[in-house]
Amino acid sequence: MRTPTLLPNKRSDEQTRAAYRMLRDCFHYALNTSTCRAKILVKYFGEEFGPDGCKMCDVCINGPPEMHDFKEEAVVFMNVLQAQAATEGMDYNSTDCYTSGRRNIGAVPDFRMAVSYIREKIPRFAMTDKIWWQGLARILEDVGYIQEAAEIPRVLIQHPELTRAGLNFLSSQPDEEGLYAYPDAATLLAISNPKSFSSSSEWGRGWADPEIRRQRLAGKTGRRKRKRGSRKQPAGFTTAKERLSAILSKSKRRK
Ligand SMILES: [Zn+2]
Repeated sequence: MRTPTLLPNKRSDEQTRAAYRMLRDCFHYALNTSTCRAKILVKYFGEEFGPDGCKMCDVCINGPPEMHDFKEEAVVFMNVLQAQAATEGMDYNSTDCYTSGRRNIGAVPDFRMAVSYIREKIPRFAMTDKIWWQGLARILEDVGYIQEAAEIPRVLIQHPELTRAGLNFLSSQPDEEGLYAYPDAATLLAISNPKSFSSSSEWGRGWADPEIRRQRLAGKTGRRKRKRGSRKQPAGFTTAKERLSAILSKSKRRK
């Protein structure tokens, strides 16, 4: 009897790579918003579906979303990748860089670091979610401007590096041409809920900071106190000035 070889400790690197490739294909199939689903499935198994869609799937029925120009963000993202690579001492001008295969991970840009850098340094992208940038990375990978440099690529891009085509795009950048693509399902979600993913994690992170924690706790009790106080207010005094003069006149009488 043959023992299962896809268990993490039994499979080879090549099997792991193939497993992730299949998982990534599944993920992209689910995120797809622009190609007939029957077409994708049939093509996956090496056949042609024909020019028309199935007219039954969600894409055929709803149609693709509006195309979006990703050029501005793509240039920012790719410039950060290039700068990261430069500080790591990688030479994008040497020709063997893209023909000699993978290098070690330490010398390659890191997706999470790149996105953190952009969100921190460029105010207009401060609220743009990591999920949105992952969508952009998929588009750039599709057009061949970046590639995954990890030894074993996972479902989401981890170590994006610029390709020759990407470098050419960065250096030429014709002003009139955009970088139009269909936003995928994850990108659409990130656009419609710009704060939903990051705000919850930031809220959680905030409690670790003693100053933020103090402010939040003070804000909570402060609100409660104000409510209780309002119940005790004497009737007939509506403004703060009236209440204050009432208290002052009472204390004067006591004296
Ligand atoms: Zn279809």
